[in-house]
Amino acid sequence: MKNAVIIGAGPAGITAAIYLIRAGIQTTVIYKDMGALGKTKAIDNYYGFPETISGPELFERGLAQAKRLGATIIQDEVVGISWEDRMTVLTKSDRYPGDVIFFATGAARIAPKIDGLKSLEGRGVSYCAVCDAFFYRNRDVAVIGNGAYALHEAEVLSNTSKSVTIYTLGKTPEFTLPDQSQIRIDTRNILRLNGDESLESVELDDGTIVPMDGLFVAVGVAGSADFAKKVGAEVEGVRIVTDENCQTTLEGLYAIGDCNGGLLQIAKAVHDGAKAAVHAIKFLRNS
Ligand SMILES: Cc1cc2nc3c(=O)[nH]c(=O)nc-3n(C[C@H](O)[C@H](O)[C@H](O)COP(=O)(O)OP(=O)(O)OC[C@H]3O[C@@H](n4cnc5c(N)ncnc54)[C@H](O)[C@@H]3O)c2cc1C
Repeated sequence: MKNAVIIGAGPAGITAAIYLIRAGIQTTVIYKDMGALGKTKAIDNYYGFPETISGPELFERGLAQAKRLGATIIQDEVVGISWEDRMTVLTKSDRYPGDVIFFATGAARIAPKIDGLKSLEGRGVSYCAVCDAFFYRNRDVAVIGNGAYALHEAEVLSNTSKSVTIYTLGKTPEFTLPDQSQIRIDTRNILRLNGDESLESVELDDGTIVPMDGLFVAVGVAGSADFAKKVGAEVEGVRIVTDENCQTTLEGLYAIGDCNGGLLQIAKAVHDGAKAAVHAIKFLRNS
């Protein structure tokens, strides 16, 4: 049986799941939390709720509907995506191959405000370890972030780099380093990045200057653009390039809802989910 894996359980991901499961596609939805709906008190402009509805209630209703129809719902954090014999979604604790994959992870993450971060993007500052680790072979690199995603990126880098330090920017690490790990953890804040042509060093809040060749941003939870880059789908800034069916530049890989930009509203997320699922169903039937 053909299968679909959806990252995200907001309006986009759940709508795609509803269409796919009802067309007989085995569907798994992996989500970390309520996404944007978790921050929404009252929704006044979505069809069918004259009395308004809260974001968390709409989220729970969507999840219950997908479950009732037969979708497998997994609560876990996705930290990567890779090509094996099929495209495979990697979570903190498992891996999920899919014939079609949907990114429905909501609006892009915001990079931390560190002096020099923006201007050194592509010249020492990277957002994708799998894509760029090669350029930092036998060099000193750092990852910023304090969660599972940061650890995942650091582990990718530790295969080829001379040294890897995770800077948690004052936050407590939400991961445990495996025994024998060579990765270092530093909880100090980074004040600024130094370098003209490319990154040369990072300056910490106590004045220490640490020479550095590469800095990888992995703050919070990985977003769709991070995943897209890892498998080679085209990205413009934080926006994933999609066609009129929300398909990325890779066949069978879709980006739906807030993560592909445009109108950041529930109605548009639902529309994307339905449209992409219908396209994926045809694709799976013909493949
Ligand atoms: C405060 C606020 C008020 C709003 N009010 C309205 C309103 O009144 N009307 C309206 O139409 N819209 C409103 N919106 C916008 C609306 O909530 C979003 O447009 C909509 O939720 C987008 O749906 P989505 O499915 O694309 O993403 P989201 O609803 O954000 O869902 C993203 C999903 O992806 C998951 N995810 C992300 N990264 C990972 C990962 N690495 N691993 C696993 N899971 C992951 C999240 O856990 C979540 O389940 C509001 C938004 C906010 C923030």
